[in-house]
Amino acid sequence: MKKIQAIRGMHDILPEETARWRYLEATVRRVFQRYGYREIRTPILEMTELFKRSIGEVTDIVEKEMYTFEDRNGDSLTLRPEGTAGCVRACLEHGLLHNQVQRLWYQGPMFRHERPQKGRYRQFHQIGLEAFGMAGPDIDLEVILITARLWHELGIQGLELQLNTLGTPEERHRYRAALVDYLRRNESALDEDSRRRMESNPLRVLDSKNPAMAEVIAGAPSLMEYLEEESRQHFEWITRGLVEAGVEYVVNPRLVRGLDYYSRTVFEWVTDRLGAQGTVCAGGRYDGLVEQLGGRPTPAIGFALGIERLVALLEAMEKETVEDDRPHAYLVLVGEAASEKGLVLAERLRHRLPDLKLQVNCGGGSFKSQFRRADRSGARVALILGEAELANGTVGLKWLREDREQEQVDQESLANRLQQITGE
Ligand code: ATP
Ligand code: MG
Repeated sequence: MKKIQAIRGMHDILPEETARWRYLEATVRRVFQRYGYREIRTPILEMTELFKRSIGEVTDIVEKEMYTFEDRNGDSLTLRPEGTAGCVRACLEHGLLHNQVQRLWYQGPMFRHERPQKGRYRQFHQIGLEAFGMAGPDIDLEVILITARLWHELGIQGLELQLNTLGTPEERHRYRAALVDYLRRNESALDEDSRRRMESNPLRVLDSKNPAMAEVIAGAPSLMEYLEEESRQHFEWITRGLVEAGVEYVVNPRLVRGLDYYSRTVFEWVTDRLGAQGTVCAGGRYDGLVEQLGGRPTPAIGFALGIERLVALLEAMEKETVEDDRPHAYLVLVGEAASEKGLVLAERLRHRLPDLKLQVNCGGGSFKSQFRRADRSGARVALILGEAELANGTVGLKWLREDREQEQVDQESLANRLQQITGE
């Protein structure tokens, strides 16, 4: 029979890897909580219309990356390609933006039908954060400082913060005209993709990953020159704050977003250690989105980080993140009677010692094969319950990793002995 395999670009995360994921997730969660952000969970499926209206029809995501299908009622549904749209939808649906600010975060799988390669998958995972209802640059600074603290807490060094401003929609509109003018004059230097984007979404041309486009992009006019005083001050407020907080950054005038709802601040954290897929976190202000989805005009800013890429980075740094999955003890049970009493004894121990990690041999097996399993489990000690031990109320305690004398411990005092051992 032909083996059924996982879908291309969608990966299993095996037990050897999940510890690193948990370390990352737990650290991020702790940092977010320290800044007063609360978690929101939304469905993985949404109405297709939500993404068309929020992300926009002329973006890569909506044009060619979405997993869209009809359900049994004939509704067009889409597996979420990102988390912001669902978050805003939920906020509007439950009145969370009504006369109040919100600090929220989410995490989970996202789906995009891209060409799979290292750091680019069809199911991938993001943790994202959104702040609603605050228009000033202070919240922009807070959000960026959160990301900087994340790297600090995770022990990740060497990321570069790239920063840009996209101005207001009006400023961008004027810039857009100048950019299209420039691109038209240099049309012969553009690749096919860029020629198409020049008409539909010219800012995306600046985001081209084609090296042959580098020169023409470098010569393009800069949005900075089209900013009014207010946008300029907003940006300077942030850069001043970053300098004072000791967070280094570079201004990258080519850093853009294809979406119209973005405004002013955009930023990315980039590494050169992961090859072509070097952006581990991307964010920005999106003051237009809430209104675009039917809410009242509400300023907002957020970011999303790519878990796979950060996990790969932790791995590349050989960061010791692996929380200890190994049991402290493995209970070897010899004989029918012992295998019955063993599970009960183990329950008593777990009850007494809430932190004890104890694995019980199930499914029988010879003394030798049980010891092999004990060894493979990574446990520090094997506990042995056989006929003799049952008869005299003891348990054998054998050290699996150290050259220490075997002990015979009363069942009554076993919890105390294990407490000593786990505390060593
Ligand atoms: P790119 O230009 O690399 O396609 P993007 O602009 O589509 O990135 P965002 O939508 O901003 O990416 O997503 C935020 C982050 O999520 C990215 O910086 C990246 O770390 C991660 N990410 C995005 N798409 C994928 C994917 N297909 N596989 C793995 N991680 C991804
Ligand atoms: Mg993409």
